[in-house]
Amino acid sequence: MTDIRTLTYEELEQFIFSINEKKFRAKQVWTWLWKKGAGSYDEMTDLSLALRAQLAEHFTFQRAVIDQEVHSRDKSAKFTFRLHDDRMVEGVLIPSGDRVTACVSSQVGCPLRCTFCATGTMGFVRNLHFAEIVDEYVLMNRRAQELYGNTITNIVFMGMGEPLLNFDNVMTAIDKLTAPDGFGLSPTRITLSTAGVVKGIKALAERKFACGLAVSLHSAEPAVREVIMPVTEHNSLHDLQAALLNFHQKTGQRITFEYILLSKINDSLQAAEKLARYCRPFPVKINIIEYNETEGGLYHRSYPNQREEFIQYLKDRNMVVNVRQSKGQDIAAACGQLVKGKK
Ligand code: SAH
Repeated sequence: MTDIRTLTYEELEQFIFSINEKKFRAKQVWTWLWKKGAGSYDEMTDLSLALRAQLAEHFTFQRAVIDQEVHSRDKSAKFTFRLHDDRMVEGVLIPSGDRVTACVSSQVGCPLRCTFCATGTMGFVRNLHFAEIVDEYVLMNRRAQELYGNTITNIVFMGMGEPLLNFDNVMTAIDKLTAPDGFGLSPTRITLSTAGVVKGIKALAERKFACGLAVSLHSAEPAVREVIMPVTEHNSLHDLQAALLNFHQKTGQRITFEYILLSKINDSLQAAEKLARYCRPFPVKINIIEYNETEGGLYHRSYPNQREEFIQYLKDRNMVVNVRQSKGQDIAAACGQLVKGKK
């Protein structure tokens, strides 16, 4: 049976006609699905019971559910979502000031196998459907209101998976989240993070992507990056740079680079120099991320003095550098610690 949320508006309208209902019923159902975020037919209270029964007879409604929720001392919260096939993905809410950022997953597992990331160790299971990505948002948005008295203000695609390897679903989810007659979020409040999939970045540039783009760079030295991020083998630093320049030219946007400082791997002054040079063609912001230890992890955090030197080197060259404190470490909700997925 087809899931109701895979229908286009036209298909839904056709179905509504076929059961002799009025045209505006399609609009009502659509609003429940893509604006109010209903999780079942029962919630569609302005539809007759007969119509709800008709819908249920013809279409499944495979909504994700929150399976588990854990709260961190720092007020962030990690959610484990159970999908219709019993697969699991994780999402995180991160409150700070009057913002609430939701970190969402785009795949169950991840095929890229970055050596520092826990998600990479579990391998790839499957792509999320766009409705499942929207579910993460809708379910966490309700909890955000209950926990923090505030709705989600920002969304980052920095959970499990590589969003550019699930391109169509991620783009459709973003369309739903930003639709003015839908959830209505501003694209400027959404950031997609990629490990550097060149083909995907080219496609984003073509469609003049209006959301923010972050790239998990972690090294500007080919030999180092190839080891810590195997994706580099088919997406060289050189090609990545060209794709980012094109992205900047097409969208006018600045690129955000994420850079985890790993002791003795990518934290030397030479590494900082390579990074500064790599950033020259376009405006960038660099987010320095602390390495979060993962189970059986291979790496260590940089020493504080090494870290300061590295950051100072970049600042001295007038680069925009933020140091991001990872939240949720006590509940394994921090960057690179999301690993659920098996049934
Ligand atoms: N695949 C995309 C989306 C995941 S984002 C991407 O790579 O950008 C997850 C972020 O957490 C990335 O910047 C990733 O590099 C970072 N990360 C992964 N493992 C980490 C760890 N152990 N400590 C800190 N950050 C980590």
